[in-house]
Amino acid sequence: MQTEEKTVGIVVASNDFGENDKIITLCTFERGKISAMVKGCKKQNARLKLASSLFCFGEFKILNAKYSRVIEFNCIESFFRLTQSLKKFYLSCAICETLKIFMKEEELYPEAVSEAVNALKNIEEAEGAGEEFFFIRSFLKLLSCFGYGIEGGGCSVCGKKPVFFSFENGLCCEEHKAGKGEYLSEKALFVLEQALSDNDFSAGVNDSKTKFGETLEKLDSNTVKELFFILRHYFYFCSDKPNLPLKTYFKEFIFDH
Ligand SMILES: [Zn+2]
Repeated sequence: MQTEEKTVGIVVASNDFGENDKIITLCTFERGKISAMVKGCKKQNARLKLASSLFCFGEFKILNAKYSRVIEFNCIESFFRLTQSLKKFYLSCAICETLKIFMKEEELYPEAVSEAVNALKNIEEAEGAGEEFFFIRSFLKLLSCFGYGIEGGGCSVCGKKPVFFSFENGLCCEEHKAGKGEYLSEKALFVLEQALSDNDFSAGVNDSKTKFGETLEKLDSNTVKELFFILRHYFYFCSDKPNLPLKTYFKEFIFDH
């Protein structure tokens, strides 16, 4: 029996299938994670070309028969500028990969889908170190949607200034540090606290209040390396498997850049 349904989501993976078709993975609000075929989308002016493009966010009309197939797509955001900068592209891939790995089929995580869309929007609009900052912020929020939240605002036990990122216990002072984790430099701690804060860092917000400029100044290449190293290992800890694609995004681009 054939059924049709509409669902809003984001393309987190897109793979060639045969000469003209693609198979996409969608993370959706209403259906969770699903795979679907997009037929004839590889030709230049194909009607469903956008529906098969990585990062595209919109409403998909899906025909469920022997296999699922996209038959209509209304694009809300294509995020096409993410594919024009290598850094933006890799950071966005790491966001989509994280969503894809943690979302299970048949399980709904609408907040995680929203956060991923938000991340792509911010990474697309940000400049310089702002790109890494919004990545770090959304990456932590995504993990928190899946139950691996880290809280800012001091040592998780006593509230004193933290020095250690514990994978099991969050931020800790020297006295309360426990389990696997990594020490944090002053700059990394500052950036992390800002990323975990509720401050609104969107454009036009009073900088003296949000410390956005100060945060970006501290986010120099060494601090990016340090934080990405920690986040990568935290990700492995949470996901329970060193994931190769994500490792590539973190390592090859970010470490060797
Ligand atoms: Zn403490």
